Amino acid sequence: ALTQFSSSAFAAIKAPGDDPFVGHPDMIRIGSNECWTGPFPSAVTAGQAQVPYGNRYEPDHLRSTLLRTASSVEGISEEHILPWPGSSDPLCRSVVTFCSPERGLVTANPTYEAAWRTADWMKIKLTRVPLSAHNGYATDVRAMLKADPNAGAYYICSPNNPTGTVTPLEDIAWLADNKPAGSVIIVDEAYIHFSGAPSAISLVKQGKDVIVLRTFSKMFAMAGLRLGLSFARPDLHKRMMRYDGPNMISMLNIVALAAGAVSLTQADAIKARRDEMIAARSMTFDHLAKRNIRIVPGSQANMFLVDWKKPAAQMKTAFAAKKVEIGRNWDIWPTMSRVSVGSIKEMEGFCAALDQIVA
Ligand code: PLP
Repeated sequence: ALTQFSSSAFAAIKAPGDDPFVGHPDMIRIGSNECWTGPFPSAVTAGQAQVPYGNRYEPDHLRSTLLRTASSVEGISEEHILPWPGSSDPLCRSVVTFCSPERGLVTANPTYEAAWRTADWMKIKLTRVPLSAHNGYATDVRAMLKADPNAGAYYICSPNNPTGTVTPLEDIAWLADNKPAGSVIIVDEAYIHFSGAPSAISLVKQGKDVIVLRTFSKMFAMAGLRLGLSFARPDLHKRMMRYDGPNMISMLNIVALAAGAVSLTQADAIKARRDEMIAARSMTFDHLAKRNIRIVPGSQANMFLVDWKKPAAQMKTAFAAKKVEIGRNWDIWPTMSRVSVGSIKEMEGFCAALDQIVA
């Protein structure tokens, strides 16, 4: 019956508010590690300028501008960079490429689950090494190697989702020098611009078996536009690209390509956005400390884990009733919720909702 798919027809199917977690225009959305504001204004202008050319498949010049810009900002040759529609594809694809039923995947726990899901789907042996206070909740690379000395891939998310903690570059370099032959280290740097930590791209430059993933979904606020980059030796990229279908699945969105290239050059705006996030995060931490609510310490990104000392799912529902969407929890720590850092105003809203819930 929906021949005319108007917004009112859509409203008839699903009214805002049917689901307490989505659809409220006035909901404070700090559940998905999105950026609290839109893309940089110069990126919006560059993206908008491409819309009239949307009848054409991606032209070469937009891709080459992005590659040239990324190469100059990161100081690595263009041959080591591939663009993607987000970082999810190269993340899952690198697990598919380098793991097998014989050569497993090793990750931290908790960490971003996309690699786990891929391993599960492929019936790959999955080994998860718990994070702990002994090394400041960094990914424990020595324990990872010990847990599976013959894995096909070791996944390190740094800063880690959901703890925000950083794994020292020396540890990643140690793993690169000690891991089994034929395996790779996947370093997911989705949140690195929020941290200022040194990038594992330096290991790619040294020719190591390291694949670094970046996304434009976080600091660059382009989650809905879809753009990502991977940095790796050309032979590793070539293996990941064995299946490119009819040469179309790696085609990119021209709006995202143009907006992304401009975003990379905005060093001052990146710093200002990071500073704004740090101010909102420390205001929130002070508030939680005043209430004696524990967080996992050491976050260097736009998220943190809060320990409610009761089932996290209950707290998610309680916050949703106050129109605050907080993040999910991980099975290993069922009393902790991930909270993303939004604007100062949004974090004040989170603190006010918290005060009402615990009062
Ligand atoms: N890696 C990490 C650590 C993430 O948190 C996310 C998204 O939240 C992704 C990768 C995938 O992001 P995208 O596909 O939008 O680049």
